[in-house]
Amino acid sequence: MTCIFCQIIKREQPASFIYEDDLVVAFLDVYPINEGHVLITTKRHEEKFCNLTENEVSHLFKVGQKILKAIHVSDIKCEGANLFLSDGPIAGQEVMHSHLHIAPRFEGDGHEVGFSHSDSELYTRNHLDTIANKIKKHIFCAVRAQY
Ligand SMILES: [Zn+2]
Repeated sequence: MTCIFCQIIKREQPASFIYEDDLVVAFLDVYPINEGHVLITTKRHEEKFCNLTENEVSHLFKVGQKILKAIHVSDIKCEGANLFLSDGPIAGQEVMHSHLHIAPRFEGDGHEVGFSHSDSELYTRNHLDTIANKIKKHIFCAVRAQY
């Protein structure tokens, strides 16, 4: 199995590195949507977001925030940013090694990221509550949100 990100982490493939520590590594996307488009990934190969450890997930986002702060103070054009993680091919995941994108955005960059809104009449409060309950009952974590 050849994973391009694992090869990058092992320095078997070139990349423009931004950051590295024991858990994660960050480098520039070779197909950036804008200048400064960074990918952050765990050093451990894991395809699915749900299989990352809680520590890996929190670290991924903490490092993501640090990198975005660095982008903001650099001279890279960045009026806002999209942080996104595509989980599974159906969601647009192209490299099967879970990773977080940080994509700087600015007025007039010509990109659109978003979803088309569904018919809100289909989603009554009752329907939304039913969906919320389907998810809520399967949330098991140390600190459970109180709603
Ligand atoms: Zn990998």
